Amino acid sequence: MQKMTQLIAIFSCCSFAVAHNHDQHKGFDIKVTDHGSGIFELRTDRSGNVAVLIGEDGVFMVDTQMEHLVELIDGAQKKLSNNQDVNLIVNTHFHRDHVRGNVYFKKRGAKIMAHPNVRRYIENPGALKALGRETPTFTPQYSPTIDISKDRSIKMNGQSVALYHTPNAHTNSDIFVVFKEANVIHGGDLVSTRRFPFIDIDNGGSVSGFIAALRSIIEVADADTKIIAGHGPIAKLDDLEASIAMLVDTHSIVKELTEQGLSLEAIKALNPLNSYTQKWHWAFITTERMVTIHYYDITGRLE
Ligand SMILES: [Zn+2]
Repeated sequence: MQKMTQLIAIFSCCSFAVAHNHDQHKGFDIKVTDHGSGIFELRTDRSGNVAVLIGEDGVFMVDTQMEHLVELIDGAQKKLSNNQDVNLIVNTHFHRDHVRGNVYFKKRGAKIMAHPNVRRYIENPGALKALGRETPTFTPQYSPTIDISKDRSIKMNGQSVALYHTPNAHTNSDIFVVFKEANVIHGGDLVSTRRFPFIDIDNGGSVSGFIAALRSIIEVADADTKIIAGHGPIAKLDDLEASIAMLVDTHSIVKELTEQGLSLEAIKALNPLNSYTQKWHWAFITTERMVTIHYYDITGRLE
């Protein structure tokens, strides 16, 4: 039980959150992957994966990670961009491990685009009930500067960069980013390569919306598309299709048991998603938590 309490405290969202200390970044590594056309993936594996598009028009960044990692991220992009500051950012959603670098980059002149629900959440994070997560603390300085409520496209560094909003999926604020000519996508936390996804039922996420979002990504991708995940390794089309098949099946298993009148505790005791554990279970979204997510999604109850 003690162990579980610690786990809940550590995995307050979908990241390996650690204590805030600006010196801690010195102990972290960053892995840079060149995806061509000026697009680089910056991974610390401690927080959401960042992408940058670098070229003559400036530096565009997808997600900003956490305070204690942001200097590491900025240092890595500066090495690639000949010491340029980041000009334009998009937050894929409001979870703290994707937005807490916003303050740092805003101070250095960056404009930050996001769905309006990112600003609403930062102003009022509300109580989190499902999965025992901590409610994050934000100040107005974390807020994005440009609202993106509809699909948008920008042209920068020779790339057509399309921003797609997918309603009620991982959260109610998700945007995925398509670098068209380069055939690279940043899927935010809609993409969770070969592991159970976190679906934030407390904040407008839903299983059907999550599946619809994966289908939206598949629509604009092909077998060669490199799909940067919110966390973990790069995904391919097959990985997204496997996620959909898993979600459809696990949802129907939990739904059937719920309709038989079983309580959440009774369903958990049956371990009905056991056959998925080996391939999909991980530290934050365990097999048991996947049951809980489906149960809340089906019943609308959060406690
Ligand atoms: Zn997230």
